[in-house]
Amino acid sequence: MDLGLTGKVALVAGASQGMGRAIAEGFAREGAKVSMCARGSEALETAAEEIRKSTGGEVLATPADMSSYDDIRNYVDRSVEAFGRVDVIVNNAGGPPFGTFDALSEDDWMAAYNLSLMGTVRLTREAVPHMKKVGAGRIINITSYGVKEPIAGLILSNTFRTGVVGWARTLSRELGPDNILVNTVLPGRIDTDRHHSLNVARAKRMNLPLEQVQQQSREEIPVKRFGQSEEVANLVVFLGSDRASYITGTAILIDGGLVRTLM
Ligand code: NAD
Repeated sequence: MDLGLTGKVALVAGASQGMGRAIAEGFAREGAKVSMCARGSEALETAAEEIRKSTGGEVLATPADMSSYDDIRNYVDRSVEAFGRVDVIVNNAGGPPFGTFDALSEDDWMAAYNLSLMGTVRLTREAVPHMKKVGAGRIINITSYGVKEPIAGLILSNTFRTGVVGWARTLSRELGPDNILVNTVLPGRIDTDRHHSLNVARAKRMNLPLEQVQQQSREEIPVKRFGQSEEVANLVVFLGSDRASYITGTAILIDGGLVRTLM
């Protein structure tokens, strides 16, 4: 299937590792020009160089903290300077820290708000005028299955990601007439550094060996394994493509069947 991405420009945030990196590579493989960001420059540049080598694509790397509006503006400006247009954005970054309500401070709440909700709002705000110039666009938000079934101990993530879903569905109605489509992806348990560190913390809390915690976690998933970043990337690249031209306002689980809700 030709995804129609050749020559398109995709901005992928939080892309030095994990799902963001796989998504950046997925777009580059389909012929899109990719502008990726993450906070630090070293790991980001290494990832960008690896993607250039593996795909032969044009890849720009810009250090940017998704909780800083100045960084986000600079990231979009640099992308447009380099590639001249914006067709796709992927709103992604690290997740907010683990913590129960009692343990979290005002600063923790504001930091999570700035990163998980406002990072998404701000990158979108800066990108939409460029999409309107092109006459089309794709906005894809990476959140979590926690918006369907709140995950214990991740109250910050459960709160602000639910906000992203409400925002995205509203925005899809506002931007539909501009042919700018807005969708949210809800990953389940995907085998990345973030997922591993959450399991390590869980094993410590429960005073159990890591392997036992991981085995139990896998057993809860109908397909009996964690997902791979590339599997999430395949979905996101499709949503970013010309082939996903009638999909907007959705929140799509990719979780190996983990979540039991009907809708
Ligand atoms: P990860 O920690 O492996 O990678 C996160 C990426 O975002 C890295 O490149 C990191 O450098 C970058 N990043 C972190 N903070 C940033 C910031 N402030 N500004 C810009 N870049 C930043 O994470 P992942 O597992 O690939 O997860 C991606 C997102 O999906 C996270 O928000 C995570 O919480 C969420 N999620 C993950 C899983 C899972 O099982 N892995 C499940 C549900 C949701």
